[in-house]
Amino acid sequence: MSDDLTLHAHLIGRQGSRTDLNTPVLVLDRQALDRNIAAMAELAARHGVGLRPHAKTHKSIDIAQRQIGAGALGVCCAKIGEAEALADGGISGILITSPVAAPRAIERLAALAARDGTVMAVVDHPAVARRIDAALAEAGATLDVIIDIDPGIARTGVASAEAAVALAKAVAELPNLNWRGVQFYCGSQQHIEDYAERRAAIAERTGYLTSVVAALTDAGFKPEIVTGSGTGTHRIDLDLGVFTELQAGSYIFMDKQYLDCDLTGDGHVPFETALGVDARVVSANHSGLVTIDAGFKSLSTDGGVAVVRRGAPETAFFAFMGDEHAALIAPGLGEQLAPGDPVTLTVPHCDPTVNLYDHYHVVEGDTLVAIWPVSARGRAR
Ligand code: PLP
Ligand code: MN
Repeated sequence: MSDDLTLHAHLIGRQGSRTDLNTPVLVLDRQALDRNIAAMAELAARHGVGLRPHAKTHKSIDIAQRQIGAGALGVCCAKIGEAEALADGGISGILITSPVAAPRAIERLAALAARDGTVMAVVDHPAVARRIDAALAEAGATLDVIIDIDPGIARTGVASAEAAVALAKAVAELPNLNWRGVQFYCGSQQHIEDYAERRAAIAERTGYLTSVVAALTDAGFKPEIVTGSGTGTHRIDLDLGVFTELQAGSYIFMDKQYLDCDLTGDGHVPFETALGVDARVVSANHSGLVTIDAGFKSLSTDGGVAVVRRGAPETAFFAFMGDEHAALIAPGLGEQLAPGDPVTLTVPHCDPTVNLYDHYHVVEGDTLVAIWPVSARGRAR
């Protein structure tokens, strides 16, 4: 049994200490998480807009339950495997936001629809819609679908208003599919750091979305659901008033990438940093450098580097030193810190970092209060 699982057993009887944990470890501040969940829920409710937060961020049954408990309609999932893992934990109201196209994935989607009538999925091509419809017939189920609209990055989604109308017509002819609306997720605009620049970019894209919705409505397909948005643009999207529901995900944790963005226009940070990686100094044999036990296998590498939150100066320079290690570099740091000293890091990009861990170690202050599985870890298919 690993030391953490031994500790888990102890938790049944008593609480543990964060500093006892072996490192590197993914640490989640429960109170900050709950405040972030409540803040987004309150904001959406105040605007009369639904919230179906994206679970690609957390992949966790426990966190999805807390979001739904705070009023969310359900959660979004990126892939069928993620949706299955959360549905197995009793989560309903799942929207799968990436097209499901592989034959086995389509079969599993139909099977999931047969056991959970609340699941929805996006489609972006009539041929795939027909394959899903056939699989549903086989499984004896029906499925609510959302047409994915390409926001201009050519990743997924129909590429024009005409294609959206043609797909809505194709779906209307399929007996086992029930068309509910459209999805428009502007991923490239989310991390524009300057608020005014992000607002201008998203306002322009929303103009396009509005034209697609108008074309659908003119053709007799008025969408009941218009879903999209993320942590970067949620306030702007609420203000523009086109979405009926929001898919924001990262707001629950706040990573370095989002801390670098002005989310409100006045520099105020509306969400707390709830997620971190606790690491440790493992070598301190140089005056200006210490080596910690978190490298590529413990922190995502796609979105810059981690920053120190506690245990060393926040200005210390972070440099990856391979799979297992990183260096913290600052004048005299090797004299200030010794092997075994703890350091807390703010993660560069939350979603791919979470996917590196089996568990969240949930803390209140420095007390370990729970261990939650990353339920859909690795469920990318
Ligand atoms: N919706 C979709 C389709 C996404 O891909 C993502 C994130 O990548 C989100 C919502 C959540 O956005 P964010 O993490 O910026 O809040
Ligand atoms: Mn992300």
